Amino acid sequence: MFHNRMRCVVRCSATALWVGLAAAGCQPSGPVRVTNANMVMGTEARITADAPDRETAAAAVAAAYDALNRVNDLMSDYVADSEIGRLNRLPPGEALKLSPETYFCLSEAQCFAAMTGGAFDVTCRPLVSVWKEAGKTKTLPTEETLTAARARVGWDKLLLDADRKVAMTTAAGMEIDLGGIAKGYALDLAAHAMGRAGATSGLIDVGGDVRVLGPQAGDQPWRIGVQHPFRPRGEHFCVVELRHGAVATSGNQHRYSEIDGKRYSHILDPRTGWPAENAPHVTVIANDGLNADAWATILSVLGAEEGRTLLAERGVRNVEVMWLLPPAEEPIIHKTDGFDQYIASD
Ligand code: ADP
Ligand code: MG
Repeated sequence: MFHNRMRCVVRCSATALWVGLAAAGCQPSGPVRVTNANMVMGTEARITADAPDRETAAAAVAAAYDALNRVNDLMSDYVADSEIGRLNRLPPGEALKLSPETYFCLSEAQCFAAMTGGAFDVTCRPLVSVWKEAGKTKTLPTEETLTAARARVGWDKLLLDADRKVAMTTAAGMEIDLGGIAKGYALDLAAHAMGRAGATSGLIDVGGDVRVLGPQAGDQPWRIGVQHPFRPRGEHFCVVELRHGAVATSGNQHRYSEIDGKRYSHILDPRTGWPAENAPHVTVIANDGLNADAWATILSVLGAEEGRTLLAERGVRNVEVMWLLPPAEEPIIHKTDGFDQYIASD
């Protein structure tokens, strides 16, 4: 049976930019650390693994990169022969058999869509394209263009069949974009791969979204810098300490279009077809990368007030959030109650 709603299991998430690593391996008996920086998923990644010996740590880093690249190959809408690329070219009504990974990511995305009344919607790609073009030409889209794109968008028009692990679109011109969730899921798969390869601890940073694999030696937390929304890249607003889970940041401070002097976020509100109004800078800490990534996008669309209400109404646990809003000199801060426990005191 096809269905587009399913029980949602909320795990957790997180956000931020990676600050640096405390020195490790000073003890003769301590773990050996291997760190490697590389481009993955169109962005900079930095992966660190601790393991009993160098060979194992290096293998764990390599396994994490393989996992990230596999997710990109399966789910990127820019890769023509990825599963999502193929799904996007299939006519409506034709089902595509998916890998367990792509199916899982899509089904989680549909949970978030149902839970947020469509504020999170991975069928938003036609609108994303319209707004990308608008950014390039510096011209707002016409009402007709928006109406035509919106007819191709709608999470309830994407059907999934859990038994057969297939997906099917039901309207002409539908296209999926997993840009708001797949990176976080990739972080989770990379962390699992790293653990399976023998790492005792590790950190995976892809473009500022970070997943950690347990604490560092001596139960030390990893320190992750949260980008200051109104200052140049690399300047941190605060430092978050994590032993488990993930931290992710969404916002329009570094990714936006300017048209007629107004900033438009790359995060859209699929309910209106327009970029999320005043999309703030949102940092989310959660138990895993998928939740951190998706919630950061969702809570950018909803903003602090609607976001808080949704989290409370839905009884969402293990999602701690910090919203940062202008003015740039002294940002207005909204936080969920549990966020502060992760902020480093020094
Ligand atoms: P980043 O890619 O900068 O980490 P996000 O995780 O917030 O940022 O994801 C933004 C991407 O998600 C957009 O580039 C687009 O591909 C997609 N997207 C935009 N708006 C939505 C939305 N409302 N629901 C789901 N996906 C979205
Ligand atoms: Mg996201």
